Amino acid sequence: MQGKVAIEEHFAIDETNGVQNRVANAYWANLSAQLLDFETKRLKEMDACGVELAIVSLNAPAVQSIPDPARAVEVARRANDALAEQVRKRPDRFQGFAALPMQDPQAAARELQRCVRDFGFRGALVNGYSNASEAGKALYYDAPRYLPLFGEFEQLDVPFYLHPRDPLTLDRYEGHPWLVGSAWSFAEETALHALKLMGCGLFDKYPRLQLVLGHLGERIPYDVWRLDHRLQYRHDYPAKQKMGYYLRNNVHVTTSGHFRTQTLINAMLEMGSDRVMFAVDYPYEEHARGTSWFDAAEISEADRIKIGRENANRLFRLNLA
Ligand code: ZN
Repeated sequence: MQGKVAIEEHFAIDETNGVQNRVANAYWANLSAQLLDFETKRLKEMDACGVELAIVSLNAPAVQSIPDPARAVEVARRANDALAEQVRKRPDRFQGFAALPMQDPQAAARELQRCVRDFGFRGALVNGYSNASEAGKALYYDAPRYLPLFGEFEQLDVPFYLHPRDPLTLDRYEGHPWLVGSAWSFAEETALHALKLMGCGLFDKYPRLQLVLGHLGERIPYDVWRLDHRLQYRHDYPAKQKMGYYLRNNVHVTTSGHFRTQTLINAMLEMGSDRVMFAVDYPYEEHARGTSWFDAAEISEADRIKIGRENANRLFRLNLA
């Protein structure tokens, strides 16, 4: 399929590009170079794979892992300025999501406004919880202090993309480090955070707010029936609607890093094909792998066009012809 829009594609600036993860050095060096590049390898691969437009966001955990709020504000601003510069050069190929210093919700709201109004960014992508200035403490966004910020998202009519990072404490993975990271713990952490947002009443207060989850919904579509089935017996569930309702009204999912037709169809069956969007997760995943799977996936051509292009075009008001 030509003209695809890919919406979980990452870049880095020098300040956020220094963290070696659990991967081999050669792999990391390559990744690191790809995160900094826009116009060479990235654009060439997009051309070769039928990706017309990428909505680009900062790498993870980046701003979210900075315990000092003032420093988080500064790095977010610098990253957003750098991304805006790239978008300005090729708005037909690159659009942006803002990085936000969630450590300071008021500053995050101001940065969101600046990025949407001044740069035309299409929303924000936040890498999970933020590190609090108090060591060992994580800030989750179901806390009431984040309500005005989510009000700002609704007001500006831009989505909030919750992207994975590792859990703050890894005790329960002891002896099994291979489960930490993108293979398993990313989704465990992100699903829990997303369920906190869905169940805390956030979408009762802001019914037009849209949450985006990568990796075909971080396993939530697969489990949503059982969630609601068991929650019907609980008296301590705070939201007005069932989880399935929020999934079908306030959540979109993307195919980032999850190129499996069975899982895609599960998400489509639970949420409808209007709420699923294509993404690669470049450079952590290869364009060719994501696009060759998607282009041949056994879904209807009407759904392929929706998921590959039109849903993102509508949600992010991309004005693609
Ligand atoms: Zn990603």
